[in-house]
Amino acid sequence: MLYDVIIIGNGPAGLTAAIYGMRAGLKTLVLSDNPMSGGQIATTYEVDNYPGLPKISGMELGDKFEEHAKALGAEFRQASVSSIEDHGDTKVVVTDKENLETKTVVISIGADHSKLGVPGEKELTGMGVSYCATCDGAFFRNKVAVVNGGGDVAVEDAIFLARGCSKVYLVHRRDELRAAKILQDELLSLPNVEVVWDSVVEEVKGDNKVTSIVVKNVKSGDKKEIETDALFVAIGIHPLTESFAGLADMDETGYILAGEDGATSTPGIFVAGDSRKKRLRQIVTAVADGANAVTAVQDFLVGKSK
Ligand code: NAP
Repeated sequence: MLYDVIIIGNGPAGLTAAIYGMRAGLKTLVLSDNPMSGGQIATTYEVDNYPGLPKISGMELGDKFEEHAKALGAEFRQASVSSIEDHGDTKVVVTDKENLETKTVVISIGADHSKLGVPGEKELTGMGVSYCATCDGAFFRNKVAVVNGGGDVAVEDAIFLARGCSKVYLVHRRDELRAAKILQDELLSLPNVEVVWDSVVEEVKGDNKVTSIVVKNVKSGDKKEIETDALFVAIGIHPLTESFAGLADMDETGYILAGEDGATSTPGIFVAGDSRKKRLRQIVTAVADGANAVTAVQDFLVGKSK
């Protein structure tokens, strides 16, 4: 079987690419090692900036994208992609289950949570250290939780946790949050949230469960211990593109370089969503990337572009 396009990843970018691929009459396959569609939004409690669907849950939005692509006939397979071989007009997508042939590939594999790399973080992951507040927040009902980070995810996590936790600390390394103003205003209005400014987490303490964290004020150098039952790390993301090193040009952090059309340095290989170097990483930009990439795939297949 030779596909017109294989889409790697089932987040908003990949699922939109699948919808556009099917509407263009392309033989389209979506590959992902995650059976749950939606990518990062699958673990987002509430999405409030996707036009027309205010306050929809991330999981529901991911499901809707998948249902739409499936209704149009897109094929889905669960497999982990280890590499892509470029044989000119044909690409071979190598997975843990089989090798698949295609004329083009859209890489929309997304990004994963960055780690702090401090003592105790790895040892206590799953025992109070978490990277997903919506997945694990319920375990800390009426308990104390710390969120580390100052972006949209950290602030959304802190707001979410404040609904059930007795107290939430937000530890941020600067004196200003990066998150959208509307989220900042909501966070700062919550009575059970305390922001620990200019501070970094230096250590996570506990024996089989988190009991405290050590934070250092980066301006004064002072250290203090905060008693907590959980640490939610929300310090950003990194692209899941290691398997594609050498296949397409990337920046120093692994984001694949491409213009608005998603065309990479390798003919027939396109990128969409959070694995692409770009300024704004949101659902609306991911879905736009998916649409643009498949439009470029169509041009490529009829020989109109590289
Ligand atoms: P982000 O926007 O990159 O923010 C990461 C935060 O972590 C920043 O505040 C950063 O501090 C801090 N940080 C980074 N490395 C750190 C370290 N080693 N130690 C301590 N703090 C560290 O990441 P994100 O919040 O995960 O969001 C990822 C992307 O998804 C963003 O583009 C975001 O806009 C998007 N997103 C959008 C929405 C929405 O539209 N509702 C929701 C979720 C995510 P500095 O501020 O000092 O750099």
